[in-house]
Amino acid sequence: MGDDVTHAVVTGGAGFVGSHLVDELLGSGFRVTVVDDFSTGVRRNLDHHRADDRFELHSVDLKQGLPAIEDADVVFHLASRASPGDFRSHGVDIALTNSVGTNRVLDLALEQDATVVLASTSEVYGDPEVHPQPESYVGHVSVRGARSPYDIGKRFGETLGMAYARQFDLDVRTVRIFNTYGPRMRPDDGRVVPTFVSQALSGDPLTVHGDGTQTRSFCYVSDLVTGLVEVAREPSMDGDVVNLGNDEEITILALARRIRELVDRSPEIVHVDGRPDDPTKRRPDLTRARERLDWQPTTPLDEGLRRTIEDLRGRLET
Ligand code: NAD
Ligand code: UDP
Repeated sequence: MGDDVTHAVVTGGAGFVGSHLVDELLGSGFRVTVVDDFSTGVRRNLDHHRADDRFELHSVDLKQGLPAIEDADVVFHLASRASPGDFRSHGVDIALTNSVGTNRVLDLALEQDATVVLASTSEVYGDPEVHPQPESYVGHVSVRGARSPYDIGKRFGETLGMAYARQFDLDVRTVRIFNTYGPRMRPDDGRVVPTFVSQALSGDPLTVHGDGTQTRSFCYVSDLVTGLVEVAREPSMDGDVVNLGNDEEITILALARRIRELVDRSPEIVHVDGRPDDPTKRRPDLTRARERLDWQPTTPLDEGLRRTIEDLRGRLET
């Protein structure tokens, strides 16, 4: 994808990451077509673009097929439920969106000779035995585990993308996204940041799973989005994979305490049962992103959390 690119397709563009990506793309001069089935995405995330004639929105479930889209230069494939709470209740949908749905996206790109940016995940590393996780790590994942519709679905999506790249010379670039948070996450999404923030704002106890010693590394959404666009622009990413995230690692218990302080209320922290197969640690090795994309996350956790708290405060009050 060169600098003359004009038309981006974003699957999952009504979701949390997707809608921020749409903002960034329209802001930098792209025409944008969104495909979303609104299973977890909401129209409100895109309402501010409705009057823009460079913006088009299709309400479509990818598993059923794609609408007629022409002249796509790049397809950012983000459609997929991503909340661990959905891995059981919507496992079939998740597995098929990341296989059948990804198949349809790759076919569209092939037909139009478009670049594909596939949203994969740190979940492909499973409960990692190598720490931090570089792209070369093959992972530690259970094919039958509680998280398998998502992590094996994403692994299969990467495999299918590489098969298209090798067999048809399609330009496929894969991003392994690590935990990302920010405004527009749903309060009832189930992921840890919006859950703790909503609980703290309502004065409810913060529900730490297990003893809270498990770690994650949280990336603010605007940093991720900048990286996604860099991946699409950087020619050497053709056929390659890169981690994007933030490499500042924190325990979940420390995160709960931080959010409680920032919200300036003092709800209790309670320990509840952990999720099955919950990864014990996660932190990206960002060497490749730094060297190849000249990219790195710049938003400190406290600042990102403050913005997320303000956004959720506003939405919980309305
Ligand atoms: P999200 O749930 O807010 O967004 C997903 C979007 O995809 C929603 O708008 C949803 O309606 C849409 N969607 C789901 N299934 C669909 C289908 N079959 N057809 C059409 N649209 C469909 O989640 P998010 O956090 O914005 O995640 C976006 C992408 O990034 C996902 O692919 C996810 O796996 C990946 N990712 C996110 C994170 C993170 O921390 N946010 C981490 C790793 C990977
Ligand atoms: N978590 C928690 N309380 C919650 C929600 C999540 O302690 O109410 C923990 C969860 O068990 C995991 C971490 O926070 O260890 C991150 O969970 P999240 O759902 O955000 O994403 P994951 O990284 O597991 O995909």
